[in-house]
Amino acid sequence: MAEFRTDPLRGFTVLINGARGERPSEFQVSVQSDPSLVCPFCRGHEHMTPPSIYEERDSAGWTLRLVPNRFPALSRNAKSLVESSTLGEATPAIGEHEVLIETSTHDARAHDLSKTQWVSIMRIWQMRLKHHYAQDSNCYVHIFRNEGYRGGATLSHPHEQIAVLPFVPDQIARREHLLRAYRDREGKCLHCVWLAEESANGARVIRKSERAISMTQFAPRFPYEWVIHPADHTPFHELPQVRIEEVAHHLASGLKAVSRITRHPDSNVVLFAPPPEWGEFPWSLEVLPRVSTQAGFEWGTGIHIVSTLPEEAAALIIKSLPNGCAL
Ligand SMILES: [Zn+2]
Ligand SMILES: [Zn+2]
Repeated sequence: MAEFRTDPLRGFTVLINGARGERPSEFQVSVQSDPSLVCPFCRGHEHMTPPSIYEERDSAGWTLRLVPNRFPALSRNAKSLVESSTLGEATPAIGEHEVLIETSTHDARAHDLSKTQWVSIMRIWQMRLKHHYAQDSNCYVHIFRNEGYRGGATLSHPHEQIAVLPFVPDQIARREHLLRAYRDREGKCLHCVWLAEESANGARVIRKSERAISMTQFAPRFPYEWVIHPADHTPFHELPQVRIEEVAHHLASGLKAVSRITRHPDSNVVLFAPPPEWGEFPWSLEVLPRVSTQAGFEWGTGIHIVSTLPEEAAALIIKSLPNGCAL
């Protein structure tokens, strides 16, 4: 029982899921997890989740598990809750919803994960992008990670979600429109021109390697919001091992640096991996430290007020980057 509804006056789409309201919530109003609650993502509690779709193991047991979400927001047999009216559109939330348990360590945070762990995680992103995008009814595969109360996590054990949507959300479609409009107008690639400009300017660049660049966002929504961009147009799921290692190095080092500066903030990590029919459209990996909240100004206007200059944030992050052997 879940559906998308699009508001005829305000234009935005929401996902209403009756079943999710019944799920246990580990968080109420703080990030303190209740020790009396049994964690479904810890080793020995595998019976609390659906069976693994995929797992990796060492001599002590699994080290990483991919499972269907026990409380899915999207499912193959979703049904609408109400009939659509003339203007109010309601469609069943048909799709898939998986959970990637990143580690067996219950209290690890994003910045604790090593480069090697991120490589394993990113290989699974590649595997699931290939799998889900191969099916015609799947329009957008959204891979994201919530950590902490402000980050929207309901379980503290480190995990990510893979949500497969039956349409391309407006916010994602806008990116395609921006690139296409620029190409039509200027005859060039907006992504490549922007990266060249940002590299030359340098004020927001955190790290540059052969085929990837990390930078704080020019127009961030949160202080210290940063992004990893590829230097070319290879789709994320086609990146060879050496390039996955390069991206994992950027992610692990950036997370550690921002964590040191902002004292381990709640966060979201979001992969933007466009549908294959967009052609060689560049992906990006975005990190949102949730050090501030969205308030009335943001809710009313969609414009975020950010108190830290992205240029100052980049300089501080660079100073806090760990050296290679700490990854
Ligand atoms: Zn746990
Ligand atoms: Zn380009």
